[in-house]
Amino acid sequence: MTQKQVAVVGGGVVGVCTAYFLAEAGHDVVVIERHQNVAQEASFAHGGMVAPGYAAPWASPGMPKRILSQLFRAEAPVRLKPSLDRTMWHWVRRWMAECELERYRINRSRMQRLALYSRDILRQMRDYYQIDYEQTQGVLQLFRTEKDRLLAAPGIELLAENGLPHEILDAEGVRAIEPALASDTPLAGGIYLPQDEAGNCPLFTKRLKQIASSIGVQFHFTSTVHAIETESRGVALQIDEGRYPADAVVVAAGIDSASLLKPLGIHVPMYPVTGYSATAHIKNFEHAPQAAVVDEAYRVAITRLGGRVRIAGTAELGARSDALRDRALRTLLKVGSDWFPDAANYSQANFWTGIRPMLPDGPPLIGATPVRNVFVNIGHGSNGWTMAAGSGKVLADVISGYAPDIDMDGLTLSRYG
Ligand SMILES: Cc1cc2nc3c(=O)[nH]c(=O)nc-3n(C[C@H](O)[C@H](O)[C@H](O)COP(=O)(O)OP(=O)(O)OC[C@H]3O[C@@H](n4cnc5c(N)ncnc54)[C@H](O)[C@@H]3O)c2cc1C
Repeated sequence: MTQKQVAVVGGGVVGVCTAYFLAEAGHDVVVIERHQNVAQEASFAHGGMVAPGYAAPWASPGMPKRILSQLFRAEAPVRLKPSLDRTMWHWVRRWMAECELERYRINRSRMQRLALYSRDILRQMRDYYQIDYEQTQGVLQLFRTEKDRLLAAPGIELLAENGLPHEILDAEGVRAIEPALASDTPLAGGIYLPQDEAGNCPLFTKRLKQIASSIGVQFHFTSTVHAIETESRGVALQIDEGRYPADAVVVAAGIDSASLLKPLGIHVPMYPVTGYSATAHIKNFEHAPQAAVVDEAYRVAITRLGGRVRIAGTAELGARSDALRDRALRTLLKVGSDWFPDAANYSQANFWTGIRPMLPDGPPLIGATPVRNVFVNIGHGSNGWTMAAGSGKVLADVISGYAPDIDMDGLTLSRYG
């Protein structure tokens, strides 16, 4: 392997994992991040689930109908704000084509392949470095009604086909796993994913930053990359301080990746899908969740993070407005209070908003681009924490000239022709 000088643009969980594995492989690595620390954007206060069993494309059978039927409800999991943005409508068209059953099965299997690998890599890192990031074991999907269960049927089939351990439960079985669930909220049953996990992503990313620094990764904070230029022997980044030359660059800039790549002629169909979270200190531990649960009707996750409970979810496309935000926060608080009413004082929760870097089909894009020395690790959508460790490892392998441990079919830019 030839040692390279590699610049990673973006200090989210994906960029930091990539930098760590590149340095571990012997490269000279710098991370350029516009904030003062790592994990300050999408990686900051999301749902926290590391859940290969739950990892799925947003494009799924029945989803368009479900969104339309819920558009005018006070609390809805998805909002589509009318907008004249042609990019959005173009993206929605591509997304709808991916909702077809066979496309969904292909996309979800690709995501699960990477997510399973990533969870194993994350566990290895956790054990080796003894990293405590408030991790919990097991994810429980809740179905309020039989209709929720029917909509999840294609996903359940894939869990069985892909050999992911899961238990299909009735209401009593669900309550045996999470005894604090409120008894007066309708519950038809659920699925338990015993191997899936949850944990505090920024805590992990900050710890990995320290470890990466100790093996030579340099972090340039409060520095923005304005452009990437190719040169005969590598690349040059235009940053606030001037030109920064490197042998290769990895774009891991979350939602801003598409605009950095566009001037190079690399077009990725990424669209911002906004989400929210509310985090509150637990006041009654016996009434709080023990691990992570997901309410399938609202697509909202409730996660236990140490002494806090986090409620995260909702998705918004289109024009931004305060009305959307208020409705999304109401949805989160309703779902939290429906299931764990006495766990926390939700009115004193801290609210957060983040942007999912979403591709219409679902799996991320990892690897080389048509432009020499420019690599990507982007488009992880709703599953970036779940897939970050594995994505970083496979990209470091590709850049080092090694064969990745998993089949990369459908996880690279070549799937867009
Ligand atoms: C409500 C919600 C809930 C979610 N729940 C989960 C979950 O339970 N499990 C899960 O796996 N995923 C979840 N996600 C998805 C997850 O948050 C993302 O997939 C993941 O954080 C993406 O990581 P990233 O490193 O690619 O992006 P980011 O964390 O956004 O990092 C990109 C970084 O690049 C930097 N950057 C961008 N442009 C430049 C530039 N030009 N110069 C310098 N720096 C730049 C940014 O400042 C940022 O720090 C959720 C998302 C939301 C919104």
